[in-house]
Amino acid sequence: MSNEGRIYRVAGPVVTATGISPRMYDVVHVGNEKLMGEVIKIVDNYSIIQVYEDTSGIKPGEPVTNTGKPLVVELGPGLLHSVYDGIQRPLPVLQEKMGDYILRGVSAPGLDREKKWEFKPVVAIGDEVTPGQAIGVVMEGTIEHKILCPIDVQGKIESISDGNFTVEEPIARIGEKDIIMMQKWPVRIPRPVIEKHQPDAPLVTGMRVLDTMFPLAKGGAAAIPGGFGTGKTVTQQQLAKWSDAEIVVYIGCGERGNEMTEVLTEFPALEDPKTGNPLMNRTVLIANTSNMPVAAREASVYTGMTIAEYYRDMGYNVALMADSTSRWAEAMREISSRLEEMPGEEGYPAYLAGRLSEFYERACKAKVLCGQEGSISVIGAVSPPGGDISEPVSQNTLRIVRVFWALDTKLRERRHFPTINWLTSYTLYDKQLRDWYITNVDAEFPVLRDWAMQLLQKEAELQEIVQLVGSDALPDEQKIILEVTKMIREIFLQQNAYDPIDTYCPISRQYKMMKLIKKFSDFSQKALIAGVTVDKIIAIPARERFIRSKYEETIDSELDAIDVDFDTQFKELGV
Ligand code: ADP
Ligand code: MG
Repeated sequence: MSNEGRIYRVAGPVVTATGISPRMYDVVHVGNEKLMGEVIKIVDNYSIIQVYEDTSGIKPGEPVTNTGKPLVVELGPGLLHSVYDGIQRPLPVLQEKMGDYILRGVSAPGLDREKKWEFKPVVAIGDEVTPGQAIGVVMEGTIEHKILCPIDVQGKIESISDGNFTVEEPIARIGEKDIIMMQKWPVRIPRPVIEKHQPDAPLVTGMRVLDTMFPLAKGGAAAIPGGFGTGKTVTQQQLAKWSDAEIVVYIGCGERGNEMTEVLTEFPALEDPKTGNPLMNRTVLIANTSNMPVAAREASVYTGMTIAEYYRDMGYNVALMADSTSRWAEAMREISSRLEEMPGEEGYPAYLAGRLSEFYERACKAKVLCGQEGSISVIGAVSPPGGDISEPVSQNTLRIVRVFWALDTKLRERRHFPTINWLTSYTLYDKQLRDWYITNVDAEFPVLRDWAMQLLQKEAELQEIVQLVGSDALPDEQKIILEVTKMIREIFLQQNAYDPIDTYCPISRQYKMMKLIKKFSDFSQKALIAGVTVDKIIAIPARERFIRSKYEETIDSELDAIDVDFDTQFKELGV
């Protein structure tokens, strides 16, 4: 077994070496500058390596060293608030070292080695501990960071300290082993749990179209496909800010040119609406800009997922966003073509579907080793060229995820935001979550939702007729249906992410709004029977008041008042 070899060939991010005998996925150092890479294929005596840094100027004959270890992430206090590249190098540190363009061979550890954290034990000398059990806590800002017994350690606590330590100083001794706060975990291997559970609660987002119409379960996976400018990033950021997950892992794969500075300023500027503090306090940001090497982008989703699993293992609900997974798939495509693999559909490798499902399947709700429940909800944006989802990344993603939020360019043109198309989007969690809504909102909630969905379907049918013969030809009853569905669209489905009130709508309010629309609908049909004209019905002042109400600070009392107004104003019409 040799760990020292030579470069044989260089093809972009892919380097072939001879003279080393690595295992698959061993990390190697390539060339005089010791660029970091990972062995992704072994053919006879040739080791094929994807290199995480720019390989230009690297030549055959330069040395290659095998570390004999897989690509790992460092886990421990200090992850939150960090901005990393795809292989967990802290970008602010790299940027300080070399400006906007990452030079090569610069390494910086994922976790700060100097910083001291106040460690408080939660077990005592003599206690028996098992893998994954919490042995102490550290406050990471306002988040209680549990220090977990490493997965390969168990036994009696021989000693444990209370005090301030760096992530490398021993804080306890379990059996024969000194324990430090930092752990390392190979990114491509899911961290174990006791058992996975069926998700039974929604990830509450405050977006009406999501929570009411197409909910994602906490511990489930959703895809957001959409063409350029349809709102993928705005939606992901809304979810990062507002969804009821304690921890956010955000993997940004840059769509445009040199976005380094932009990524480092934009996301950290977001405010956590729940506390008024920076959202970064409970976020780990992984940023791949398009000027970074593709191999680091390939690795970034695994780095992010492993960090998400680590917080899940403390018993947290984690939301992981990847924006956009298409850029990740393109990285796979580029590496595959450098490997001269047989291309599959549109040049993507045959294992595209496998990689996508391995990724999304790490979403879960589970009983974790420390005995609590934790979850990871995954939301992947997909940016199909031209917005056409018949391409392989969209199609393969749709086969795996159970929630599909289809962003629609036509709705964007009509300035209907969010552009989530209510006819083509779906959730397969609706039956599973029904009980949650009945218990936590109202027994009527699922009924109202189904009513609205059916009416929107009906609207689509009616619109076809209107296109042929004009709306005047419709009977009054159907004219009213179109007025009601317009209210569903304009009051309920449209939601302005930038309006301070409308940006977040609690589920209780979503229910109230839908109930009012249904009330208007029921009254209107009665009014028609009583001989009131369509024009008179839609002219009632409470309807106008309703449309405006969602931007008012007093919205909840407004909705109550509108409820009363409907009674009186329809009474005035003789209903
Ligand atoms: P994408 O990431 O799909 O390219 P963005 O998320 O950057 O698109 O959205 C493009 C623009 O659409 C935003 O800058 C914003 O003006 C508008 N937009 C998207 N979603 C919303 C929303 N929910 N409310 C208001 N405006 C929105
Ligand atoms: Mg975007």
